[in-house]
Amino acid sequence: MGDDKVMKEAMEVMTLFQVLPRLVVFDLDYTLWPFYCECRSKREMPCLYPDAKGILCALKDKGVDMAIASRSPSRDIAETFIHKLGISPMFVAREIFSSWSHKTEHFKKIQEKTCVPYESMLFFDDENRNIESVSKMGVTSILVNNGVTLGAFRQGLTQFSQAPSSSNKDRKR
Ligand SMILES: [Mg+2]
Repeated sequence: MGDDKVMKEAMEVMTLFQVLPRLVVFDLDYTLWPFYCECRSKREMPCLYPDAKGILCALKDKGVDMAIASRSPSRDIAETFIHKLGISPMFVAREIFSSWSHKTEHFKKIQEKTCVPYESMLFFDDENRNIESVSKMGVTSILVNNGVTLGAFRQGLTQFSQAPSSSNKDRKR
């Protein structure tokens, strides 16, 4: 499916929900793209998972903010790839650094920068330890198996809308 078709479907999926997250946070390696960027060279041209671009474009179009939370030790390569892919203006925060903690520091920084409460965030990641620690902060967190897909996106929005605090969340704008 092309990016435009995925975007259209992602837009349709979003219309099904009364409540949307204010901020959607993505991991990079094995969530937005199918590799560890520390194993790559900056000279390469990276690719995203097939549904990733369409989902990012749909969120952008809908006015939902996005951010990156990556524990990559090679921030320079990750940033180079984000620029090469033309997606850097889409993110209001990009926290890319290695850490002992499982992304709790990343989310504290994202929260400080965006002022969005954890309960209004949705997060996608391919590692269960990150999902566990970040969901304890109050963020709706979705484990992806094969990168972010339309199926994972729909699951994320469903889980977000069913979270206990969703009655306090901002209604769809
Ligand atoms: Mg990952």
